[in-house]
Amino acid sequence: MRITDIRFQRARFSLEQPFKVAFGSISDLESILVRVETDEGLYGYGEAATLPYVTGDNMDTALSVGKELQAALIGKDPIAVEAIHTAMDPIYHGNTAIKAGIDIACYDICAKNAGVPLYRHLGGDDAVLHSDVTIGLNSPEEMAKKADEWVEKGFSILKVKLGEDIATDRKRMEAIREAVGQSVRIRVDANQGWSVKDSLRIIPQLTALGVELVEQPVAACDVDGLKEIRDRSDLLIAADESCHSEYDAFRLAAMRAVDVVNIKLMKCGGIFHARRIAAICEAAGISCMIGCMGESNLANVAAMHVAAATRNVKEVDLDTVYLLKQDKVFGGFTHEGGTVHLMENPGIGCTLKEVF
Ligand SMILES: [Mg+2]
Repeated sequence: MRITDIRFQRARFSLEQPFKVAFGSISDLESILVRVETDEGLYGYGEAATLPYVTGDNMDTALSVGKELQAALIGKDPIAVEAIHTAMDPIYHGNTAIKAGIDIACYDICAKNAGVPLYRHLGGDDAVLHSDVTIGLNSPEEMAKKADEWVEKGFSILKVKLGEDIATDRKRMEAIREAVGQSVRIRVDANQGWSVKDSLRIIPQLTALGVELVEQPVAACDVDGLKEIRDRSDLLIAADESCHSEYDAFRLAAMRAVDVVNIKLMKCGGIFHARRIAAICEAAGISCMIGCMGESNLANVAAMHVAAATRNVKEVDLDTVYLLKQDKVFGGFTHEGGTVHLMENPGIGCTLKEVF
């Protein structure tokens, strides 16, 4: 099988409500949908969602790099995914979102070619997952109200965005715990917003409130800080922005700096790299979560398949599917609250309407 064309299409997805995190506020998402065509009539869909302050690319650079990758990949076998990455990586360092878009489309083709859903192509046998849902930064009262609404809708795991001043952050968590009760699992994501000192001050308070994990408390580059916090805390400490690649995972593992790594397809360059990061972490006794950027259902469902197939991916943080107005990407999964069932059609299982 040979790649005959790679097509890119910018697509805008509206959020049901604006969403705030420590580094900004978002009211809609824009991503690049990818379609890889082959000489055997099979095609695959992928998606590239850039986040300039995390991945260093943007829509324009991703499209420009995509054109060059397209030229290099036409004529190559999309099923030879490792060879696809070997061809892409020397052309540009980084640029992980557009590479992830192509990677996801190639895996979609692989699974369609095998006639099985992607999670089975990747070696999994269980199509059921349990995802958290994220509470964006807001006033303590608003966040507690939102948390209560999600729990009412059947979600039993919440990810709470914090990372501003720790006095307000503590009030936020107190209000949320008060609203949802003790049985709801809560993890916190500070998105690099605290110092080591702040972290060490607030973490005992979060522990008392039944929080189970703190993600990226300090700056991405401050791996020493992560380690210090981990060594001096009872909570699980997770790296997100500190871990983009296999090399980052290895360094975090060698330093024993974290308990958990949050893998994202857009940060690492797709499913191929995600699975390798999960394996490095597994060998080091670090468990993985799989998360998402501002991406639509397509990349979210691809990541769900990875979670379903990868034993060291223990936690699922794939919730943009619950935040978007659904009008372009359909299918692939069903859910009741945070319990997700992947559909059994071959590939990722999503269909696109009026995109290509
Ligand atoms: Mg995060």
